[in-house]
Amino acid sequence: MLTQAPKGTQDLLPQASHRWQRIEQNMRDICALAGYREIRTPIFEHTELFQRGVGDTTDVVQKEMYTFTDKGNRSITLKPEGTAGAVRAFIEAHLYADTLPCKLYYVACPCFRYEKPQSGRLRQFFQNGIEVFGAKDASVDAEIIDLAMRMLRANDIGDLRLNINSIGCPTCRAAYLDKLRDYLEPKLPTLCKTCQERFDRNPMRILDCKEDADKLTDAPAMLDNLCGECSDHFEKLKGYLQGLGIDYAIDPRIVRGLDYYTKTVFEIITDTPDGTPLTVCGGGRYDGLVEELGGPATPGIGFGMGIERMIMVQDMRGIAPEAPELLDVFVVTMGDDARREGVKLVSTLRNEGLRADMDHAARSMKAQFKYAGKLGVKKVVVIAGDELERGVVKLRDMVESSETEVAMDQIVSMLS
Ligand code: ATP
Ligand code: MG
Repeated sequence: MLTQAPKGTQDLLPQASHRWQRIEQNMRDICALAGYREIRTPIFEHTELFQRGVGDTTDVVQKEMYTFTDKGNRSITLKPEGTAGAVRAFIEAHLYADTLPCKLYYVACPCFRYEKPQSGRLRQFFQNGIEVFGAKDASVDAEIIDLAMRMLRANDIGDLRLNINSIGCPTCRAAYLDKLRDYLEPKLPTLCKTCQERFDRNPMRILDCKEDADKLTDAPAMLDNLCGECSDHFEKLKGYLQGLGIDYAIDPRIVRGLDYYTKTVFEIITDTPDGTPLTVCGGGRYDGLVEELGGPATPGIGFGMGIERMIMVQDMRGIAPEAPELLDVFVVTMGDDARREGVKLVSTLRNEGLRADMDHAARSMKAQFKYAGKLGVKKVVVIAGDELERGVVKLRDMVESSETEVAMDQIVSMLS
C-alpha cells in the first residue's frame, strides 16, 4: 500500500517529463499566437459550483466526483473539469467588465473523476483547455477548433477526425425534448437501466449510449429541430471550417456529457493503430452558463484536451519524442583542490547559461567519466592535480575522443 500510488493515478517520472513539458509548451505557444492568456483556478471548489455548472443530471456529478466535507463543514469537490472554475473566476473577478472577448487557456489542469480505471481512464488526469467568454459569433467556434487541431498536430497526434454537432439552445431544445421523449417512451422497457434513469432527467444522453445505439437509429435528431438562430450559427461554423480547410463530419449523436452546452459541440478523435477510436479533445459552446452561475448573460465556448490521452496515442504509434540531452558540460575532478575549483567552475558555467554538472558522489575519476558517458555529455572538463598547479584544465571532446589543454581562465569563454 505504502509504495503504491492510489488506483487510477500516475506518477510523472523524470524519464517522461520532457514529453509533458513539450505538450505544455506547445499549448502555450499556440495560444499565444491567438492572443489567449493563462488562467489557473483552485484544485477544489464548493461542490455546488459543479452541481450547478456541470449539471446535476450528468454522470460526472452523479457518480464521479471526489466530494468531501472539510473541517469547517463545507462540502468541497476536487474539480472534475476545467470550465466551471474558470466561469466562477470570470464572474468573481468581474472579468466581464473588461474588454471582451476574454480569451483564456489553462495548462495541465488536474481533474479528478471517480471512474472505473481502464484503458485511457484515470481518476486523476490532466487537461489543457481553452475558454472564451463574450464571443457569440461562430467564427470563434471555428477558431478554437483550429487551435485544438494545431495543438494535436504539434504533439504528433495524426489521423484526426473532427465530429461536430449542434444541440441547440433552451428554446429549440425544449420542443425537441418533447419529441424525443415521445419517440423514446414506447422503447423504454427495452433500453438499458442507465438509459431508463436518464429518460426523465436527461433524455438526450440516451442517444449517447453505446449499448442501445442500434435500437435508436431512427431517433429524431436535434440537428433537424434547430431554431433559426441555432441553425444559422451551425451553417456559419461549417462555412468557416471549410474556409480553414478543416474537414469535419456531422455526428448528430454527440451530446456531450455535461449539461451546460448549447449550440456547437465537437469531439476530435484519433484512430489508434489497433483500430480503436480515442477521443482526445472535447468541447462546445455554453452560452447560458455564466448567467446560470450568477454572472451577466455572456456567451462562452471552450474545450478540454486530455494530456495522458495524447501521451497514450504517441506511445501506441511509437512516436515518443526523444529526451533532450541533459547537460552541455560535465566537470571531472581529482582531489580536494580540484573539487573546490570544480564547484566554482560549474557555477560559473551555469551563469553563462551552460547546463553543467559535476560528480557529487565521491566517484573515482574512471567512474566519473563513465557517469558522464551515461548522461550523454559531449564535453568534459578535467581538473586534476598537476595541471591545476600549472593553471590549466583538460577539455575532452567525448564524441571525437580528443583532448586539449586549456588555460583555467580561458575555459569558460571557450565553452560559452
Ligand atoms: P468520455 O466520453 O471519454 O468519458 P468525457 O466527455 O467524459 O469523455 P470531457 O469531459 O470532454 O470527457 O474531457 C475532455 C478530455 O479529457 C477527453 O477527451 C479526454 O481526452 C480527457 N479525459 C476525460 N476523462 C478522462 C479520464 N478519466 N482519464 C483521462 N483522460 C480523461
Ligand atoms: Mg467521461
